[in-house]
Amino acid sequence: QAKAAGRNTQRFFDPDMQAAVNARSNLEADLRQGLARGELLVHYQPVVDHHARLLGAEALVRWRHPQRGMISPADFIPLAEQTGLILPLGQYVLQTACEQLQRWSQHPDTAHLSISVNVSARQFRQPGFVAEVLQTLKNHNADPRQLKLELTESLLLGDIEDTIARMVQLKSEGVGFALDDFGTGYSSLSYLKRLPLDQVKIDQSFVRDVLTDPNDAAIVRTILALAKSLDLEVVAEGVETTGQLSFLRLHGCEGFQGYLFGRPGPAETIDALLDPAG
Ligand code: C2E
Ligand code: MG
Ligand code: MG
Ligand code: MG
Repeated sequence: QAKAAGRNTQRFFDPDMQAAVNARSNLEADLRQGLARGELLVHYQPVVDHHARLLGAEALVRWRHPQRGMISPADFIPLAEQTGLILPLGQYVLQTACEQLQRWSQHPDTAHLSISVNVSARQFRQPGFVAEVLQTLKNHNADPRQLKLELTESLLLGDIEDTIARMVQLKSEGVGFALDDFGTGYSSLSYLKRLPLDQVKIDQSFVRDVLTDPNDAAIVRTILALAKSLDLEVVAEGVETTGQLSFLRLHGCEGFQGYLFGRPGPAETIDALLDPAG
């Protein structure tokens, strides 16, 4: 039976494992189709300053699956990265974000807002990535200075000179860079200094227990001091309580993102923050 299935078909005789393999390939086919059918959408989560003024938003992809409902990116981004679907997916998110920037630029209340877009290492390393970003901005007549790309520390595992060269090219056009989930991955302080970053984002796993766990408190204070000495902006992620906010502000944090200020939602939820009457 296994032989008849052919050389290229892996067969597992552990039914649980086989079920996992089937589920994964179903999900892959579903995601491919979902992309083509427009089931992916982009939500925006507010990023605010220390006066709780809106600075911009992070674009977060969502998948409205016809049978399974909303699927979280944590459940399909890794698969998209493995299969290469992250490339069309990433392009879709970038396009959508640039369209949104253009829309916001047309109203005085929203013209100052920036959008942060998550970029996977695999996407960033594509040969045409820099040209694609610049072309997308141009196509939508969006200001590069209002686009920020969020990279993760996993990029540091690859060709660092190439990474820096790509960042420099985009930065020369005005595009900004943030290092996402800072502290959770492969951190090297010497690389941190070499990368032309504008911002670091403190991972929510450190913010969650910052008031009760002395280790997390120490890590957060250290990141804030480090960012200050390297002249980087900091955004703390996952801010849910005023207690966390006070701690972060006390130690010099000036950018915040979390449920305390707003959950990710359609672009209109960002507009509503600026225009409570409308
Ligand atoms: P991330 O970039 O670190 O995004 C922040 C995540 O924290 C989001 O989860 C957001 O909904 C969640 N979050 C924000 N505030 C709070 C809070 O106060 N409490 C808690 N518990 N969570 C909060 P989400 O939307 O599920 O996204 C998960 C991850 O998926 C993102 O983490 C990012 O790594 C990835 N992702 C999302 N969209 C994209 C995309 O377009 N491209 C790529 N490559 N990755 C994406
Ligand atoms: Mg992010
Ligand atoms: Mg993050
Ligand atoms: Mg994350």
